[in-house]
Amino acid sequence: MTANNKDKAFDLIVIGSGIGGLTTAAILAKLYKKKVLVLEQHYTPGGFTHGFDRKGKFHWDVGVHYVGEMGKGELGKAVFDYITDGRLKWQKMPDPFDRFVYPDFTFNLYADPKRYQADLIYQFPDERKAIKQYFRDVKKATFCFLAYAMLDLFPGWVNRLLKRSLDQWGAIARQTNQQYFDRCFQDSRLKGLLQSQWGDYGLPPSQACFGEHCNVVSHFLKGAWYPVGGGAAIAPSIMPTIEQAGGKVMTRRRVTEILVKKCVAVGVKVQHVGHPETEPEIYSAPTIISDAGAVNTYLKLLPSDYPLSERESIKAFPKGTNLVSLYLGLKESPKKIGFQGENHWIHTTYNHDDILKTITESVENPPQFCFLSFPSMKNPLSKGHTAEIIAGIDYRFFTQWKAQAWKHRDEDYTKLKTKITALLIHSVESSYPGFQDLIEYAELATPLTFEHFSTSDQGVVYGIPWIPERLDLSWTSTKTPIKNLYLTGVDTFPSGIMGAMMSGVKTAGIVNGGFGFFKIMANVMT
Ligand SMILES: Cc1cc2nc3c(=O)[nH]c(=O)nc-3n(C[C@H](O)[C@H](O)[C@H](O)COP(=O)(O)OP(=O)(O)OC[C@H]3O[C@@H](n4cnc5c(N)ncnc54)[C@H](O)[C@@H]3O)c2cc1C
Repeated sequence: MTANNKDKAFDLIVIGSGIGGLTTAAILAKLYKKKVLVLEQHYTPGGFTHGFDRKGKFHWDVGVHYVGEMGKGELGKAVFDYITDGRLKWQKMPDPFDRFVYPDFTFNLYADPKRYQADLIYQFPDERKAIKQYFRDVKKATFCFLAYAMLDLFPGWVNRLLKRSLDQWGAIARQTNQQYFDRCFQDSRLKGLLQSQWGDYGLPPSQACFGEHCNVVSHFLKGAWYPVGGGAAIAPSIMPTIEQAGGKVMTRRRVTEILVKKCVAVGVKVQHVGHPETEPEIYSAPTIISDAGAVNTYLKLLPSDYPLSERESIKAFPKGTNLVSLYLGLKESPKKIGFQGENHWIHTTYNHDDILKTITESVENPPQFCFLSFPSMKNPLSKGHTAEIIAGIDYRFFTQWKAQAWKHRDEDYTKLKTKITALLIHSVESSYPGFQDLIEYAELATPLTFEHFSTSDQGVVYGIPWIPERLDLSWTSTKTPIKNLYLTGVDTFPSGIMGAMMSGVKTAGIVNGGFGFFKIMANVMT
């Protein structure tokens, strides 16, 4: 083997350095001593966990606002400690960590499930019985939902058998939120309130899978944490674990094709993003893992002439939700007007389906819902005061600029961004007078920004949408019809940082055969 070829020989290749890809790579490196190459098309690693700075003092995260299950002895903390060798520290959010804001009412969510239940009963005494039952149902539906997510650990016929029985006794997870809440509750304010965190999965009651809703509720029952240094600290704390086994993470490397020979994945074709004039490079490995999303992997990375029955189902499946994200640099601490660092879910209505409807109709009015958070207040290392406002938006309002390059889009695009920026600030100002006066700097990311940096299909940010029908898809499985090609990341597991990370654990397990997952978990939890 020549020196050049030796440099390009790896035990595994991971496409994409999101938390799913990095978790798979780190576990395979640490536990199985594999030399892993992670290829990332962005100029910085981490996928949606990456962050960015402006003016030398303002820092924001793209996709990390709060993470649950990070307390001592909890699963998230154990896995993060394992893949980072304890390099990443976590800061507990203030209590309450979430505030659900409605025109007539604000509800504080504390890091204590008993208090959550008691506060609900205090506000809605007539619904006492239904509230108590809801907390029991959340537990049951979460268990069933996660059981669905683990089905692909099992081989074909066992998988099919388990799925059939899960469809029966796990039916509670398969309904929509609307079906559950309309059947179990009378008070429409309470129904809306209990679904205030729907922004975490991006679907309103008529569409959202109740199992995913319960998974999010369960995830945050004991509170929320934030990584010290922000989301951007996550990837650099995992990478040494990969490098210690001889592997590496290469940024600005876009995989343009997964190479398949006789139905077996054997390598990848890679384009250097900063140097499009250079010849693509070929990297080979006996195992290829894609964290680039199911849509990208099946529709863009596998050779288009390779026969795959999955393609039609992927094209026909509904697209996920789009967002705008406004990054604000502040002149003074938000403490000045009473904020402590908690998240604010600001609604003008309890009807979340209406919110989605108005998003699709127009960009002329202030959004009926937005999410407000304060990265600088959660991060002990922050240098400047920052805030973020996020709201749903329809992709079609941006398609006319799709072909124009990032930072080179025309004046009308800038005008639209300025308008949306003003509407978002207005929404927060209406609930928290004085907020606007704190602002020194504003920058808006649109679905085109997300599409550019993450390459996700149409800039969607939650992966494949969590409607109940997703539980029946074959192409969101970790295993693919192509030998030695596997998926990881949020398309193969419930959503969020925790979901994507656990997808990484699952993929590392599946790559190592029948009991791989259980071996990993035994190592992680000791
Ligand atoms: C605005 C926003 C807010 C969020 N807030 C939270 C939160 O508060 N808490 C929480 O738990 N979750 C949150 N999430 C969700 C969470 O960030 C994501 O679910 C998770 O990070 C996804 O990880 P992943 O590994 O699946 O994929 P990604 O992070 O999407 O990573 C995929 C990577 O693959 C790369 N890639 C794609 N194609 C190629 C290619 N051809 N070649 C090379 N590289 C490629 C991409 O550039 C990307 O880096 C948020 C997400 C967003 C967008």
